[in-house]
Amino acid sequence: MTATFSVTLPGGEIWIPTFVESLNQEKCIGCGRCFKICPRGVLELVGLNAGGDYVRVEGGDEDDDDDDDDEEYEKKVMTIAHKELCIGCTACSKICPKKCYTHAAGAI
Ligand code: SF4
Ligand code: SF4
Repeated sequence: MTATFSVTLPGGEIWIPTFVESLNQEKCIGCGRCFKICPRGVLELVGLNAGGDYVRVEGGDEDDDDDDDDEEYEKKVMTIAHKELCIGCTACSKICPKKCYTHAAGAI
């Protein structure tokens, strides 16, 4: 039997965080709103090329070394780069205009 991860807040209320589970890249328009609001650096904006591979986009990473191989891409999409850092705040979902996110409670 698995239990659901929950937190008891200082006021005694029980809060069940729902962690980011998946992101529908078919619907994503690459607006970057979720990236800006995420407090934990979970997300990363990448380019999707014609072959369906991810390519680095300008500003998609803070690292700014200049040997970048400016590959062509068809569209920008968000990715869940560091799922393990998510605290389940759902800010990304709330701000996403395309309802791309799915969240789930954690099992313990
Ligand atoms: S739920 Fe919160 S911490 Fe997790 S990816 Fe979304 S905004 Fe970031
Ligand atoms: S807010 Fe939604 S549509 Fe915009 S980049 Fe994030 S997942 Fe994509």
